[in-house]
Amino acid sequence: MTGTAGLDWLWHACGAALAIAGLALLVWALLWDRARGRMRCPKCWYDMQGAEADDAGAFKCPECGRAIRHERKLRRTRRRWRWVLPTCLLLIGAFASTVTPKAKRDGVLSLVPNAVLPHLLVFVDHGETPIAREVKRRVTDGQYAGEELTRLYEKLARGDFRAPTLSERWRRTYGRIIRTIKPMTGPLAAGQVSQEIPEGVRAALMSIPPMLEFRTRPVWPVGAPLYVEVRSDDWWPRPYSHLASIHAPDDDKFVARSYGYDGLNVFAVPWVKPGDRDVRITYRIVQSEQLRTSRQSRDYASGVTSVPIELRGTIEDLLTPVRDPDLTAALAAALKLDCLRPSRFQTYPQLQNRDTRTPAFVDIAIAGILEFSANGQVWAEVPAWWMVKQTPYGFLTIEECNTRQHLDFANARPVRPTPEAWTVRFRSDPEIALRVIDATKYWEGEIDVPVVIRTR
Ligand SMILES: [Zn+2]
Repeated sequence: MTGTAGLDWLWHACGAALAIAGLALLVWALLWDRARGRMRCPKCWYDMQGAEADDAGAFKCPECGRAIRHERKLRRTRRRWRWVLPTCLLLIGAFASTVTPKAKRDGVLSLVPNAVLPHLLVFVDHGETPIAREVKRRVTDGQYAGEELTRLYEKLARGDFRAPTLSERWRRTYGRIIRTIKPMTGPLAAGQVSQEIPEGVRAALMSIPPMLEFRTRPVWPVGAPLYVEVRSDDWWPRPYSHLASIHAPDDDKFVARSYGYDGLNVFAVPWVKPGDRDVRITYRIVQSEQLRTSRQSRDYASGVTSVPIELRGTIEDLLTPVRDPDLTAALAAALKLDCLRPSRFQTYPQLQNRDTRTPAFVDIAIAGILEFSANGQVWAEVPAWWMVKQTPYGFLTIEECNTRQHLDFANARPVRPTPEAWTVRFRSDPEIALRVIDATKYWEGEIDVPVVIRTR
């Protein structure tokens, strides 16, 4: 038993004492002093026993002069209204004292009923506020169940008038909560609990349409290859997930795909010609689970969208190089090629970037060419780009735009050297930094990248 819990009885006893005192005072103030056959002035409570009515049947108080028209009024219970406020304070004190141990243990928000709590989300701006955390805590603790759980998910799917479904605000609050407490079925990692998704919860989540968001720089330098970023999101329960494919508008040529939630993909749009004012893109969204199980899927959504652009100027107009020895040193420490020892051809290196979660990196595009050499020869040149961003929740995220295929050693298969034989250099390239849509600055430099061999 902790020291705090040890004092719980005192808070409860204090609450009970205050409640008894409050109730006693209430009874005394409002019910105690009944007439019991006496006749009293209802204003000054002067004893008017034996008073005689006048000709009109009215009485007059000899003490304060109040005229009383009916005898009934002389037999009223004396209610001391001025004592009601102190009584209320006592009862509020009793309540506060009784709930204090719980509030101290689980927070003041723990006192809010399940049905009310999600409606408080209208006041919050993102999914890591205390109210949002309380919702997530109760769901993971299993405090919502049955109908109440369904209604919670319906509310989360619906958002509120400030945060309608799929709006930026909805995604920061409701969407993020759903992400964190997403119910799952199917194969799970060790330690995760498999659970049936209640039908109501599933229906609520499946009612949220998947979302594709296309972005690019509003201005592109003339002559540089033009790239568009697509972010795809869904809030469906596992194992449901969407698969989006992106096509050139005219020849329906497949150019990229985004799978599942939090997908970020950057793809080239070679069909844009000088003088174009927008990038037109065709997309299709299918349900990947449907695709997997039935091998035939219908489009969940499809359409044509366009992103405005303007082609003018040079890279130098848009991006400022940052030559900072400290940043270069920090990057050299952060960038590693995490490589599984090759078994057949399935091995691929991965970039470890946990160490870049420091403010020095924020809003500077790290972009360039990874140059893979072995046996004194360059075998592959692979573009890679990242940017570290501050999130509204106060921590940094790394936007990584590479896909694993891009870094596949299989590109260099003819030599099949062991990973130990590889040397990797990374050199900055402003043309690749353009693909980081929001960047106005890019790191300029060149570093050696250590290859870390894991055998798992
Ligand atoms: Zn009187």
